[in-house]
Amino acid sequence: MIEFQNVSKVYPNGTVGLKNLNLTIHKGEFIVIVGLSGAGKSTMLRSINRLHEITDGQIVIDGKSITAASGGELRRMRRDIGMIFQSFNLVKRSSVLRNVLSGRVGYHPTWRTVLGMFPKHDVDLALKALERVNIREKAYSRADELSGGQQQRVSIARALAQEAKIILADEPVASLDPLTTRQVMDDLQRINQELGITTIVNLHFIDLAREYATRIIGLRAGQVVFDGPVAEATDDK
Ligand code: ADP
Ligand code: ADP
Repeated sequence: MIEFQNVSKVYPNGTVGLKNLNLTIHKGEFIVIVGLSGAGKSTMLRSINRLHEITDGQIVIDGKSITAASGGELRRMRRDIGMIFQSFNLVKRSSVLRNVLSGRVGYHPTWRTVLGMFPKHDVDLALKALERVNIREKAYSRADELSGGQQQRVSIARALAQEAKIILADEPVASLDPLTTRQVMDDLQRINQELGITTIVNLHFIDLAREYATRIIGLRAGQVVFDGPVAEATDDK
């Protein structure tokens, strides 16, 4: 469960990203956040795992405030949260397998991962994750040899290898064509349904949101303007 309690985010230049957000997200939900560019979708996602700091309120995950967490506790909380970006954020020159293994970094002392010394258990997890998104055969290819859609599936596999309980996907299909978009959304949906991973996805398009979400949250100027089941969401939200 993720609770936003009176969350506001004002950027250093004074721009309001989020304004007094109150929301509860339950385990296993597939939430799509919709809204125009600048509505605060990305600000909201980045606040959850503290990619940036909120300026007021707090975010509580399974009863623990991530806003107040620090050191080892913050690292453990972040381990449960997988992040997927529009631009994939893979290490282009590394193999697909290495990229997926980077999801395991938080489970080991730094020196081990710097040397690339991942135990067999991790490699097995990584390969299984690749299998789940149907690109196991690409494990030893260089990441930048893959198509955009395949690269996005690698980043999904990275979150799976991380054993994330929450997946945050920030415009995951914005740079993909319609067919690939569907494949990536299907993967996210299947993982949500099979593994019960709470999934929060930012999308520009309401049609896609309607098709995949169990709940749609509409943002405008950093505030919630719609929050409800898919059937009630309309274009002007
Ligand atoms: P999107 O809205 O599609 O996420 P943006 O073009 O708004 O993308 O933002 C791209 C990058 O620029 C992001 O890293 C964002 O944090 C940053 N950014 C957006 N608006 C501003 C701004 N007014 N001042 C400084 N940085 C900004
Ligand atoms: P969305 O993801 O819905 O496009 P964002 O969360 O990126 O919206 O942006 C929300 C608001 O915060 C926008 O007005 C944007 O310009 C602003 N913003 C985003 N990133 C920054 C930043 N790094 N510095 C200043 N303003 C920003």
